[in-house]
Amino acid sequence: MGTHRTERPFPCPHCARAFKTGGRLGQHVRDSHTPGYVIPTHKCPQCRKEFRFRNKLDAHIRAIHTGERPFTCDQCGKGFVINSALRLHLRGAHGVALESKDRLRRSKKRVVQRGDEEVTT
Ligand SMILES: [Zn+2]
Ligand SMILES: [Zn+2]
Ligand SMILES: [Zn+2]
Repeated sequence: MGTHRTERPFPCPHCARAFKTGGRLGQHVRDSHTPGYVIPTHKCPQCRKEFRFRNKLDAHIRAIHTGERPFTCDQCGKGFVINSALRLHLRGAHGVALESKDRLRRSKKRVVQRGDEEVTT
């Protein structure tokens, strides 16, 4: 009795493909899909490049297509496409560390701010 055996018992949950091993499936999901997510949806209208995050697409459009640099260094006037680039620049070029609340708030000691100098008028 020739029962048809499935040789690919690991179907991809995101598309119609199936695989022989779980490892293959995992690799496919990593390559073609981000596990647990659908394929990136933010497409650049100018060049069709895809981005997973909206702000990445925005940055891409500014950098590649419009040349817009909305984040300006107030120390030297240099412009940056994304905020994090400006931060890196501030730290690298001027030694200024900005507090970022979107990062892990490790209890690093706060940079001691220069206290108010007593100004006598
Ligand atoms: Zn798939
Ligand atoms: Zn583009
Ligand atoms: Zn600067």
